[in-house]
Amino acid sequence: MYLVDDDENPLYETGYYESREGEFTGTDFSKEVAPTISHGDWGWLCSSYVPIYTDDGTFVCDVGCDVAMDDIMNERYHNFIYILLASVLITVLTTVGVMFLFRKSLIMPLNSITKEMTKFSPTEDLDRERSGVIDLDIKSNDEIEEIYDEIQSMQVRILNYLGDVKRNENANKAKDAFLANMSHEIRTPLNGILGLDEMIIRNTKESNVKKYALDIKSAGNTLLSLINDILDLSKIDSGDFEIISQDYGIASVLNDVINMTKPRAEGKGLAYNFTVSPAVPSVLHGDELRIKQVMLNIINNAIKYTKKGHVDIDVSMDDGKTLAVRVADTGIGIKEEDRAKLFRSFQRLEESKNRNIEGTGLGLHITFRLVEMMNGHIEVESEYGKGSVFTLFIPQTTVDPEPVGDFSEAVSKYISGITTDETTLYAPDACVLVVDDNLINLDVTEGLLRDTKIKLDLVTSGSECIEKVKDKKYDCILLDQMMPEMTGEEALQEMNRLDILKGTPVIALTADAIVGAKESYVAMGFTDYLSKPVKYDVMEQVLKRYIPQKKQLTPDTAGEAGAPLPVLLIWGDDPAKLKEAKEQLGGTYKCVCVNGSAAMEKYLAKHEPYGVLHV
Ligand code: ADP
Repeated sequence: MYLVDDDENPLYETGYYESREGEFTGTDFSKEVAPTISHGDWGWLCSSYVPIYTDDGTFVCDVGCDVAMDDIMNERYHNFIYILLASVLITVLTTVGVMFLFRKSLIMPLNSITKEMTKFSPTEDLDRERSGVIDLDIKSNDEIEEIYDEIQSMQVRILNYLGDVKRNENANKAKDAFLANMSHEIRTPLNGILGLDEMIIRNTKESNVKKYALDIKSAGNTLLSLINDILDLSKIDSGDFEIISQDYGIASVLNDVINMTKPRAEGKGLAYNFTVSPAVPSVLHGDELRIKQVMLNIINNAIKYTKKGHVDIDVSMDDGKTLAVRVADTGIGIKEEDRAKLFRSFQRLEESKNRNIEGTGLGLHITFRLVEMMNGHIEVESEYGKGSVFTLFIPQTTVDPEPVGDFSEAVSKYISGITTDETTLYAPDACVLVVDDNLINLDVTEGLLRDTKIKLDLVTSGSECIEKVKDKKYDCILLDQMMPEMTGEEALQEMNRLDILKGTPVIALTADAIVGAKESYVAMGFTDYLSKPVKYDVMEQVLKRYIPQKKQLTPDTAGEAGAPLPVLLIWGDDPAKLKEAKEQLGGTYKCVCVNGSAAMEKYLAKHEPYGVLHV
């Protein structure tokens, strides 16, 4: 205890005094003491000062007390550190404990679930991993178990769904394989029937025999188009049908369509008017084949369902982007209530009434689907008993905007640019090897190519083909694809391996005419593809392409080389009449048929036939 000197009150000198209770009556010690803690050179101090007053209230001095705090503060500091460390330790231990529990009850089950679920990820091989539903030992009785149950039931649903998809896939594959086989099985004998029939038509002089043979041809072609329709439909349904776009000249497409429909309309006594707006661009980009197919379908229907009157076809280009084909007929018409059924598959309207009109009810359905695949649409107007108008709208890109102009001129330009004659292939020096396990087909090919005087070697198997090619260089090989023991593809591979082909073109002969077949045969290494039943003109075009030019003689030059028949040039505008004239005169003359006067003049500029006939 000490008194602190106060400069303002000089009554007392600084010094230590003994304190006695009650001496300083004005001071209430309990109130005035206000300890403060401070730190300085002398260390930690706890100080308390009390002002001392005399009885009359005069300030005397401060009585203070300093307590050295170092020990206490050190102890407190250490205590604080211990508590801090203990807290950190407890926190760490608690966290580890919680983590452990969390991992066991949450992370581990979630990890297991995730691992199992990755087996369903698209990058995994589903067939290999999809052995069953995940089965984990999760019985936590909480949200995790709920999630697991939910995932498990979802997985059951996915597995069932995938199972259905797989079964459908297999069923579709089986259906495709069945259709390809069926197509082959039906086409092979049909090839024989139509080929032999063609030979009868060419060789018979008896008109009633010819008529029967022509009827067989017509029925055979109907059967063939039915098979094609079924195959097309199956491909469209399975999603394998592709729209293959390329540049094409509209004149050639329309010319083909006219050639394939006009004779039939005129044969029925119908007026056939085909007009093309001169503004239609001459070269378009799109799927030429499918455009032709859908046009043929609605024009053929118009002809089929019209007994008398006319069929008018009008082709135009709407706003320069959409090809519009309008086909109007004066036929039986369609009832309002039947409109909805028109485009359904296998749906024929008024079956009993139209029983004698051939058809399956597939054509419009396929047309509708194809037009849809080309992003187009079809409009139908009809008045029952008066006639119908079907209009196709198909978007096409313009490649050459130059208008097609006068269509008849464009068509004759196109015609004069191609060889239209059916008998111009005459190549007595050419050698062709034909390989087919079916003897009738070999007979047919031999018969069809007889007039060409091409030297034919005929064999019935892949191995015989290889032996022949080892010994002789052929100008072309026609190789059947489906043969027992060794397929055409295997024979081709073997010949390539032995390196004996030396550039000889190999044409696949095949009865599976499914869409895309050509591309797949070319991909296998065949040079080209001929679908059975082989049409003579198609086979001839293919041979003309591959037999060396120098071995191909025109019938008049062949005359000098000893051709037995004189050459007769037959020209006209009607393909049906040209064909008829050729069939009648074919035995006596070597007939060269050309379409139109321009083609006739072009031919005469280069050749001197024995005679010229206009039909
Ligand atoms: P089909 O092979 O029977 O001709 P489509 O699918 O081409 O099959 O046509 C379906 C049905 O629509 C036909 O059976 C016919 O009843 C009707 N139809 C199609 N085109 C015409 C038309 N131009 N005039 C009248 N009816 C038509």
